[in-house]
Amino acid sequence: MRDIQLVWFKRDLRIRDHAALTAAAARGPVLCLYVYEPVLLQADDHDAIHLDFVNGCLHELSTSLRARGILLHRRTGDIVPVFEALRAEIAMLATPSRLETIWAHEETTGWTAYQRDRDVRRWCRERGVAFHELPQTGVVRRLASRDGWASAWEARMAARPLPTPPQIEGITLTETGTAFDSTALPPTAAVRQSLQLGGESAARDTLRSFLRERGVNYRVEMSSPVTSFDACSRLSAYMSVGAISVRTCEHSARARLVQLADALDAGEFVDLRWRNSIGSFRSRLRWHCHFMQKLEDQPRLEFETMCDAYVGLRNEQQVDAARLDAWIHGQTGYPLIDACMRAVRATGWLPFRMRAMVVSFASYHLWLHWRFTAPLLAQHFLDFEAGIHYSQFQMQSGVTGINAVRIYNPVKQAVEQDPDGRFIRTWVPELAAVPLESLAEPHRMPVMLQAMYGIQIGRDYPNPIVDNVTAMRAARDQVWAVRKAPGTRQAARRVYDKLGSRKEPFHQRDIR
Ligand SMILES: Cc1cc2nc3c(=O)[nH]c(=O)nc-3n(C[C@H](O)[C@H](O)[C@H](O)COP(=O)(O)OP(=O)(O)OC[C@H]3O[C@@H](n4cnc5c(N)ncnc54)[C@H](O)[C@@H]3O)c2cc1C
Repeated sequence: MRDIQLVWFKRDLRIRDHAALTAAAARGPVLCLYVYEPVLLQADDHDAIHLDFVNGCLHELSTSLRARGILLHRRTGDIVPVFEALRAEIAMLATPSRLETIWAHEETTGWTAYQRDRDVRRWCRERGVAFHELPQTGVVRRLASRDGWASAWEARMAARPLPTPPQIEGITLTETGTAFDSTALPPTAAVRQSLQLGGESAARDTLRSFLRERGVNYRVEMSSPVTSFDACSRLSAYMSVGAISVRTCEHSARARLVQLADALDAGEFVDLRWRNSIGSFRSRLRWHCHFMQKLEDQPRLEFETMCDAYVGLRNEQQVDAARLDAWIHGQTGYPLIDACMRAVRATGWLPFRMRAMVVSFASYHLWLHWRFTAPLLAQHFLDFEAGIHYSQFQMQSGVTGINAVRIYNPVKQAVEQDPDGRFIRTWVPELAAVPLESLAEPHRMPVMLQAMYGIQIGRDYPNPIVDNVTAMRAARDQVWAVRKAPGTRQAARRVYDKLGSRKEPFHQRDIR
């Protein structure tokens, strides 16, 4: 009887540093599988852009496996019936065989996948199939306390990335599925203009170009929408589907630092900005896991407000549809907000500061509950990663209890982050002729001036949806009323104990 090892590829679409593939190959004949799961494809934070990206990664993965004589089986359906069918097919093979073990990586994603994994575990128990889930990031399962998490992360990252197993004995079943077509999904509003392409080699090229060429001034250029598209690593989409591991990124960054130090020692010219930039990049790799750990420790974060004291601050039952629509379509009358929303719909990406700003605008200026805005924006982020996304949405909406309240002023940000108006003019072409001094607030141009530049605010471009200063003040007052209320501090303390970073002790946090 042959014991078949099934490698279930999920969000680990690579062959390098793949612990599950390595372990399975060492144990016996391997069946490689990817499953398109309707329950995940139909989730309200999923979009056809994600499926296209996954298909790009799967194309390369299946080519890499085929080069080693292994077929990547693709199936579509609910996971338990798919496993049940595969188990039966394996039992029918000419050589007597049985499905012995399913190998996968631990996954920290949304509630639906969390429930799905529980179903898989139950099915495996009932069928006597072993199910091994191996870590692939710095996220720790069943973490008893946040204290010591940072050293656990260091230990995970210290191990060298695994090479592709040199020998894999593959199993091929007769009937295999094909790529699931993204046009089979509900129509998407996204414009596929310049999205990143999926695949492990694209991920590695992106890492290499960041560490060797693009990233030299990352630390300074990461926030502006003008410079960040090139200066940031742009690795997030690849990490979200596991086309590259966090550990590979961390090790490559360390290797680059060593190489720079060696060059310095050898008396070669080294641009010293590299050192700070790579340092900032490495901190963010840690943040990646830190934020995902929050969802791992509290899976309901996807739909429950982090700090109880803020439940009811905004209306969770009903949304102001006109405001939501203006925001997501980039029609708020605030040029930098609108440019960002239109850019993200076309490119699938924004730098951190612009993400924080558009969410701050939705949550504070427009007073929309994050439960409505978060899934909608997730559809447009190619790098959608539930653990980071929902935690950040709650943070930028001021409901975590453990972070400073930060309300971004979209007018000030436009002046500071897009100083010559290039980004706004690119994405809001109706403002192309508006002079720089009026670009952040075109509605303030006198009518005569508007006529001179051939634009009429209110007709060609919207008037501001809300008054900037009044809306910020009203939001601040409402959030602070909760912050100062009795019981809020204790509620915040509970959040800190369970989910807070230990970089600063609770009493030093700006939470009053
Ligand atoms: C409201 C909001 C939602 C967000 N949603 C996501 C999301 O769905 N997926 C996602 O990967 N990031 C998300 N981020 C974090 C951050 O904006 C992106 O990781 C970053 O812009 C991705 O670009 P990059 O790969 O060039 O990042 P770089 O700046 O080059 O950073 C390298 C890596 O570090 C990690 N990282 C960087 N910044 C952060 C951060 N603040 N928190 C956690 N990890 C970070 C990412 O994995 C990133 O790929 C969100 C931020 C905000 C404010």
